[in-house]
Amino acid sequence: MNSIAINIEVIKKRIEKACLKVGRSGDEVKLLLATKTVPAEIIKQALIFENNLIGENKIQELSQKHTLLKNESVEFHFIGHLQTNKIKEVLKYANCIQSIDRIELVQKLNNRLQFEGRSMDVLIQVNTSYEESKFGVSPEKALSFAKEVSQYDTLKVKGLMTIGLFNSEKEKTRKCFKLLSNIRNEIAELALRNVDMMELSMGMSNDLEIAIEEGATIVRVGTAIFGSRIYPDSYYWDEQKDIK
Ligand SMILES: *Cc1c(COP(=O)(O)O)cnc(C)c1O
Repeated sequence: MNSIAINIEVIKKRIEKACLKVGRSGDEVKLLLATKTVPAEIIKQALIFENNLIGENKIQELSQKHTLLKNESVEFHFIGHLQTNKIKEVLKYANCIQSIDRIELVQKLNNRLQFEGRSMDVLIQVNTSYEESKFGVSPEKALSFAKEVSQYDTLKVKGLMTIGLFNSEKEKTRKCFKLLSNIRNEIAELALRNVDMMELSMGMSNDLEIAIEEGATIVRVGTAIFGSRIYPDSYYWDEQKDIK
């Protein structure tokens, strides 16, 4: 086995162990490969599932890898900050947009989708850590935002996404994930049109166990599989900054 295959096995075990701890079944949690800066040839080594989820942060990388991996069994999720001038492009390649965070984006996505006569799966991104460097609707506004999004029939809301606080104090990170889970329950209770709350996308290389304990259904893992990156993550979250 090469190192990527070994790393994936380790992640699978971590997922299973965390599920076991809280009485969940391992197959309730999907592994999304966070593949920013990882070349397609390397990504291929990680495609061991029947259906593989890939998350990209930049449109340019999404488009390149979509082309290079088109013969593989992959589903592309957009997990970066989305500028409205990239909507046409993202819709060409993504199966799901996890970073819906403002109504201007919702309206423009809806316009384009109406024009194309189709719909798109999305997650609402919530800024559970209240950090200014992170995108997402504020937890207080998440309910009213979900209600607004539900008016747009082209957008099928499948759940929520968050990036937890990076902190060595695990309980602070857990608070973010608990908050997202509570918001999910509150939105689910509203039984809104076009909104189901099946997915909670939370947890990364360092905190996936806590996220799973708090109900994650998708964990997004990069570093623990592909190794570390040279740029800070805030760089990849912002679609305005382009990798040269
Ligand atoms: C990079 C990234 C991840 C994965 O982070 P790692 O710490 O490398 O596992 C998850 N979610 C988002 C939005 C990312 O940009």
